[in-house]
Amino acid sequence: MFWADKTAEEAHEQLKDKGEVIVRDEKTASGRVHVGSMRGVAIHGIISDLLNEKGIPAKFLYEINDFDPMDGLPTYLDKSKYEQHMGKRLCEVPSPDGRAKSLAEFYADEFKGVIVEAGFSPKFYKTSELYTSGRMNEVIREALERAADIREIYKKVSGSIKPDDWLPLNVVCESCGKVGTTQVLGFDGEQVTYECRENLVAWAKGCNNKGTISPFDGNASLPWKVEWAAKFKVVGVDIEGAGKDHSTRGGARDVANHIARGIFNYDPPFDIPYEFFLVNGKKMSSSKGAGASAREIADSLPRKIFRLALLGTKPMRAINFEPKGNTIPVLYDRYDEIAEKYWSGVGDDDSRLYELVHLHNIPERHYRMRFSQVAFLAQMPHIDIFREAREEKGEELNELELRELHERIDYSLAWIKKHAPDRYVFQLQEDTPVALSFSGAQRKAFEKLYTYIEANEVLTGESLHHRLHEIKKEVAIEPEELFTGLYQVFLGRDSGPQAGWFLSVLPRDFLLRRLGSIVHTS
Ligand SMILES: [Zn+2]
Repeated sequence: MFWADKTAEEAHEQLKDKGEVIVRDEKTASGRVHVGSMRGVAIHGIISDLLNEKGIPAKFLYEINDFDPMDGLPTYLDKSKYEQHMGKRLCEVPSPDGRAKSLAEFYADEFKGVIVEAGFSPKFYKTSELYTSGRMNEVIREALERAADIREIYKKVSGSIKPDDWLPLNVVCESCGKVGTTQVLGFDGEQVTYECRENLVAWAKGCNNKGTISPFDGNASLPWKVEWAAKFKVVGVDIEGAGKDHSTRGGARDVANHIARGIFNYDPPFDIPYEFFLVNGKKMSSSKGAGASAREIADSLPRKIFRLALLGTKPMRAINFEPKGNTIPVLYDRYDEIAEKYWSGVGDDDSRLYELVHLHNIPERHYRMRFSQVAFLAQMPHIDIFREAREEKGEELNELELRELHERIDYSLAWIKKHAPDRYVFQLQEDTPVALSFSGAQRKAFEKLYTYIEANEVLTGESLHHRLHEIKKEVAIEPEELFTGLYQVFLGRDSGPQAGWFLSVLPRDFLLRRLGSIVHTS
């Protein structure tokens, strides 16, 4: 059974008595959102969709955390402008474009756009709304009244020792507006006393103000792990997974689960731990440079391929996306493969994946040219890619096939241009570089190939492939020597696409001219 169907069934099994199932995920909007955050979106989104598909009403809630303090400065933001805002809530920090309501809103809007384009439809809400509406008041009171028990849970579960007077609350300083710099000193049942300390944290400076304020209605927020547990209860969460960095024993989720049970008397949600979505082998970081933002990766792929990247790997296996490597052509090959399985009625996990990648709007069987071929042909001048496609298919392309081919041309050219993976960048060599020299065996092989091409008006990938292997034997040349020589002659490099195929797509007169220039000189 496909992993998402299985997870949805397991979750349902545990949540049978619930009415509507609440699925929740969250992202702190502290900068451009890394594509890694799409993994949580996709896992929660597909589970919610599948529950609904199975007749179990489910709602996917996505929280934009705009209430955390700005505790890191993304490298792409102007330090001189933003340093003064460090320690303030993200919803209080000005937007880089000067138009959005806040920095949080600016980056959240971009990310929300990607989520929706990828075909997921959560109901978005903001952490600030949760607090300022008063919905968190009760859990704040409980947390303050049972601070000693919370300290004990931290100690027991994660080994983290809090001072005996530590209270689980971050209050906003009325004087400087920062939340990261304050320490709460006491709670009298209605109000808290606090101090804003100059050097409480390394990333923000406090103002030394002391005050007394109500902790309710948005004046204060709970620290991360307590807040996580509190939200389970306040939002009524039934299903919520977390990245594996939070999912270890004694990790954030473990602490939150214990606090949910022990303090808020709430059963923690059904958990789906998941591995990272890496880009070039690296973990996500919203504060470092862009380069791997959700927006950039989403723009480099059509929706179906983006969904395949997100849904095609089980949660506990890492995804590694290499824009400059072969990730994109490999994804396309996988897409073509699962399409074939679906159309052949195999009915396995791959067929199911094909359905889910397409959001019910599943295309009928059609011809597609392989992405790596499209990427090659699209770079070749004087080549009519549509003619090549017609020849490969054996008849005219229908509307769906034309649309798909256009899409592949657009995405492959954008990919080549933007990421320029050397392996996939080709330039036809109009002239033989003077420095190029060939061995006797290579020359003999080229002669035989020239003779074959001259004698055959119609060249197919298959016939050329076959002939090249005969030549290899006749001349007793090592395959590497033969193929490297061919790539050097035509592409000026040591490697290239499958030789028979790539020779078949190049104009015949060009092949004769280039080979002839070598064969006819000695
Ligand atoms: Zn202050």
